[in-house]
Amino acid sequence: MSEKLDVIVVGAGATGLATAWKLAQGGRSVKVLEQFEQGHKKASSHGGSRIYRATYVQREYLDLMHHALDMWREIESESGLKLLSEVGLVSHGFPPHDFEQPMRDAGVPLEVLTPEAAQERWPGMRFEGKVLHEHKTAGRVNADLTLVAFEQELNKLGGEVVYNSRVTDARIDADGVVVESTTGTYRADKIVLAAGGWTNRLAPGLLGLDQPLDMEIIEVAPAHFQINPDTASGMEENTWPSFTHDHAPVDPVTGEPTRWPGIVYGLATEGEGIKVGFNAYGVSLDPDARTYTSRPGDLQLHADYVEQWLPGLDPSTGVDLSCTYTRTPSDDFLIDRRGRVVVASPCSGHGFKFMPALGEMIANVALSSDSDISSVRPDVFSLAHLLESSQR
Ligand SMILES: Cc1cc2nc3c(=O)[nH]c(=O)nc-3n(C[C@H](O)[C@H](O)[C@H](O)COP(=O)(O)OP(=O)(O)OC[C@H]3O[C@@H](n4cnc5c(N)ncnc54)[C@H](O)[C@@H]3O)c2cc1C
Repeated sequence: MSEKLDVIVVGAGATGLATAWKLAQGGRSVKVLEQFEQGHKKASSHGGSRIYRATYVQREYLDLMHHALDMWREIESESGLKLLSEVGLVSHGFPPHDFEQPMRDAGVPLEVLTPEAAQERWPGMRFEGKVLHEHKTAGRVNADLTLVAFEQELNKLGGEVVYNSRVTDARIDADGVVVESTTGTYRADKIVLAAGGWTNRLAPGLLGLDQPLDMEIIEVAPAHFQINPDTASGMEENTWPSFTHDHAPVDPVTGEPTRWPGIVYGLATEGEGIKVGFNAYGVSLDPDARTYTSRPGDLQLHADYVEQWLPGLDPSTGVDLSCTYTRTPSDDFLIDRRGRVVVASPCSGHGFKFMPALGEMIANVALSSDSDISSVRPDVFSLAHLLESSQR
């Protein structure tokens, strides 16, 4: 058994690496154990792009976003890597909540446009409903490079990631946590489970729960499309704004119920085209039983959406990819601690944009006293909130 550490982190996705970086920055000895190889594509954190935006109505997320933006700049400057592309975000359609006022109340600079004005500005896209343009607090973040940055900074501070090290068991004893993995036995004062879709393998036992956490793992398959030079929209991959579309229940062109199975999101991935996806649309499964292929018809459905709503793209060029969402019933993140065990899953398809701030929050949860947890993370991220929302 190796020397006792302050913290063992399980999982080297964005959550685990951000947390380990912050723990090491606070002077803690930390090791991350990751079951797969460096740069693997078998979970949720790989790929060249994620949207970052402040399109939220809940104050907890709006405040976190502001803080995260400062911290993105911190990790960019420490690592020397360019992670954010500040291309803005346009959201349009008919969302269940009006985002404008909560965003303005939180100090997010916004521009409101009509669909016609938006289309004039971005001729490669079509719009409906209210169009919000977030130009200072939105764009995209390079996910693959973010993992590199977190790990590089962790290493500089003496922390380490052990790859191909699957944690098979962990137990609490009088002196701390004993962690069994395929690369050996480790001992630490605390354990952080940042295991994404595998959270339920270890969390219920360690947290003393009598049933699994209510988390659904969904394999999703968004697709990249190339810009269609024939439409001469003047829009380019690099500056294409990120977007979300809460479509109307009835298709404005055909008058039929819309075919799109979820809120649509899109953004550029450098060198790969414009990614288009339906939020949380996919197959519910066990993360160890994935097919890594999309269902018949799914790529065509994305192409049909592109044909109707994104005239600046060529619908015949779609190339899909595979990724997993981990969803909670309320789509809120889970960040909590019971004794020496921290569970952290900022999941539900929208966690990446907050990662540097979440790493700090999770590190604080790991180090805080029981009575302080509520002051370092919002109650909507608590285990109690997840358990309550599971019963609704
Ligand atoms: C298609 C898609 C699009 C998304 N788009 C956006 C977006 O636009 N904006 C945004 O903000 N967010 C987005 N997200 C969400 C974001 O990517 C996730 O919130 C984030 O990546 C979750 O990271 P994680 O580290 O918690 O989980 P993961 O990336 O799943 O990492 C968990 C890690 O733990 C490891 N692990 C598990 N069990 C063990 C074990 N027993 N031993 C050792 N290692 C273990 C796994 O191998 C894995 O590497 C998207 C997600 C997907 C799938």
